[in-house]
Amino acid sequence: MKQSDVVIVGGGTAGYVAAIRASQLGGKVILIEKDSLGGTCLNRGCIPTKALLHSVGILESARHGKDCGVDVGDISIDFAKMMSHKDAVVNTLVTGVQYLMKSNAIEVIKGTGKVISPTEVEVDGSQKEKVKGNRIILTPGSVPSAVPIPGVDGPGVITSDDALQLTEIPQSLLVIGGGAIGVEFATIFAKLGTEVTIVEMLPQIVPTEDLELSASLKGVLEKEGIKIFTGAQVGRIEDDSEGDKLVIVTTGEGEQKLTAELVLVAVGRRPNIKGLGLEEAGIKTGRGGITVNDRMETNIPGIYAAGDAVGGILLAHVASAEGVVAVENALGKDSVMDYRVVPRCIYTMPEIAAVGLTESQAKEEGLELKVGRFPFSANSKSLISGQRDGFIKILSDAKSGEIFGVHIFGPQATELISEATLAMGMEATVAEISSTIHAHPTLSEAVREAALAAEGMAVHIPRKS
Ligand SMILES: Cc1cc2nc3c(=O)[nH]c(=O)nc-3n(C[C@H](O)[C@H](O)[C@H](O)COP(=O)(O)OP(=O)(O)OC[C@H]3O[C@@H](n4cnc5c(N)ncnc54)[C@H](O)[C@@H]3O)c2cc1C
Repeated sequence: MKQSDVVIVGGGTAGYVAAIRASQLGGKVILIEKDSLGGTCLNRGCIPTKALLHSVGILESARHGKDCGVDVGDISIDFAKMMSHKDAVVNTLVTGVQYLMKSNAIEVIKGTGKVISPTEVEVDGSQKEKVKGNRIILTPGSVPSAVPIPGVDGPGVITSDDALQLTEIPQSLLVIGGGAIGVEFATIFAKLGTEVTIVEMLPQIVPTEDLELSASLKGVLEKEGIKIFTGAQVGRIEDDSEGDKLVIVTTGEGEQKLTAELVLVAVGRRPNIKGLGLEEAGIKTGRGGITVNDRMETNIPGIYAAGDAVGGILLAHVASAEGVVAVENALGKDSVMDYRVVPRCIYTMPEIAAVGLTESQAKEEGLELKVGRFPFSANSKSLISGQRDGFIKILSDAKSGEIFGVHIFGPQATELISEATLAMGMEATVAEISSTIHAHPTLSEAVREAALAAEGMAVHIPRKS
């Protein structure tokens, strides 16, 4: 039987990053992956969606090139090429992870892992074998959630995995779920000319985000021609006589019958824990997935879990951070997972990025707030690039200026949020951001201006008399 210090089941973001950390700490690692290294993020999530968004971003620039004196003439879309560019990026990154495994002397076994004892995993691959580890880390990730809607299993109803494999641009698409995944796909296909409808059960799209950002995004998506129904519930999905899908939706105004060529179900993800041997091994699970403490330990000594499979915040950077905490503890260090400062990014156009509390959360907590706002329309770099929609909002303590939350809706929001994340991680105040010299002309000047605005001292906002 193969022996190691750590056996990791699942080679997605949580698993492969944990494996590298184990190797850096001098541990002997076996990583078991049944599919492709990189998991959801590299193969079916973050990377392929952002590759497609990059292509539609070029399309958008080409469409607006004329405004800056560059007329590219008739623009055509080669969807097959767009998809093959996406596949090429995915393949390059997956190959990169394979190389990283090799360079870190990590043994990768292809097969499905199942826990059979606190120190043993059975692998069903090209052959059945058992591997032994002093510690086991479970990182099996998540899969698209199933929803109990009649007709959801019929043809023409797809998941995000299927949407990434389409060979033609659909004429029309109805997206069930207005969360991050739903609005990103809505953006991709609307820019490609698909008639898009979003149906969201909650009163706002991107429901975990600040209301002001959510409302602004809704406005921009509607301007793009996307129809959005919030507070709306899909009752059933049928086929209409034209071969399209007929989606029966209950809204505040009663029942609506919506048609679309395809229906994309983007209502969230569930832990991928079936067949992992959890019940037999006595490993506790809850609604979100495998139950862990802040050291990523399960209830069974020596067995840890991390990533989407433990629930909570289902993001790649959280998964890798949890993987690192799990493996450090598995190898005798003392690490604790800290979720206080986690950036959240949504790659719409403009983008959304946020860290910390939303305004309503801060108010619910009874915090006394100072809100600093700065519009991108007053930022020189935004004007240069013709991306003047959006704003930055910084929530800080009315007395000390400690930052509680930063919310960005605008160009490059997903890059700009790092400054706010670092500031919050270091418990910086708005005064510390505003007293830092920012390069000119940059979008990041808008972050400083929002911090100045919190103190009533924004430079590029006209003074109220
Ligand atoms: C469309 C989409 C877009 C997304 N975009 C973003 C984004 O922009 N930014 C972001 O931060 N997050 C994004 N996410 C979320 C992100 O992909 C996940 O949070 C992340 O992949 C979780 O990593 P993980 O390692 O926990 O799980 P996964 O990436 O799901 O990896 C788990 C791996 O374990 C393997 N596995 C499962 N069971 C077994 C078994 N029994 N034996 C062996 N192998 C097994 C699976 O094959 C898989 O490779 C997106 C997700 C989707 C679906």
